[in-house]
Amino acid sequence: MFERIRASLSIRRYPWQELSCPACGNTQGEVLLARDRYLLRVNVKVCAGCGQIYTGRNLNRAALDSFYRDEYRRFYEDIEHISPAYIHDNRDKLKACYRLARIRERVGAITGVVEIGSGLGFFIRECRQSGIENVLGFEPCKLSADYAAKQSGLAGKIIDSDYCRYDGKLPQANVYALFHVLEHLPDPGELLRWIGDRIENGWLVIEVPDIAHGWERLGLINFHFGHRHYFSVGSLARLLQRHGFGVLAFDADMDDGIYPGNLRVFARRLDVPDIKFPALPAEDNREICRKVRRVGKAPWRNGLPRCAARLLRP
Ligand SMILES: [Zn+2]
Repeated sequence: MFERIRASLSIRRYPWQELSCPACGNTQGEVLLARDRYLLRVNVKVCAGCGQIYTGRNLNRAALDSFYRDEYRRFYEDIEHISPAYIHDNRDKLKACYRLARIRERVGAITGVVEIGSGLGFFIRECRQSGIENVLGFEPCKLSADYAAKQSGLAGKIIDSDYCRYDGKLPQANVYALFHVLEHLPDPGELLRWIGDRIENGWLVIEVPDIAHGWERLGLINFHFGHRHYFSVGSLARLLQRHGFGVLAFDADMDDGIYPGNLRVFARRLDVPDIKFPALPAEDNREICRKVRRVGKAPWRNGLPRCAARLLRP
């Protein structure tokens, strides 16, 4: 408990900065929720320019790099090492099987997989076990990358640094996957450009927490500085379009066991020939903002006691 409180106090001393919209660069917008579940001032805003919901105040990039390298799992999950109990509770293997099945339904034959933010390596391992040999994962958290290399038998298949520092060869892959990664990145467009330059006519599969629905019962717990952007299918599709991708299909799962409100989007480059990108359903951004605002208005009813209990549990 003391370690958890220490970590939560230390994060306040990191350098914080005011941010513009990650999608369009606009700085104007209404603050919907001022403080996150750690009571850190993150100013969750709706962009006046494009409607993207994002944290208007967050850690700067250098601080974020050291945070993900050294503190991430300790801070969020209160662990110093990856134990069998932790593995069991996270059910990463089940999630990996489920994700691979959903992707196969849409994509068909998978020739290879590049995963950014591969965590403990379960998805890459699942791909290999099902016969996909061309795989590579990027995982900046050292604890996770080491686990993947040693326990998941993926030495040489997981790069323990950022994708943008990698100058090696990428495998032939028709799937690029990001599971709960994009919402953490200071500049999601930078990663989409990097992938766009490499993916050719392959599939980009992105999972993010869905801000449109599913998360309501979490209340304030849904909001923390690690999640810098809050996507719906509409705002994610707009961001993708800015970077040359179109959305072909999406799953908005309320209860798939991954996250309450898990959005999975299947996209391809807009210039892949002979593809017709369907129109997406209309979305009411005002209603989404209303739900976020409601959390800020009554934090005691909307999760603050649960946040305190998380911090204080033995
Ligand atoms: Zn914007």
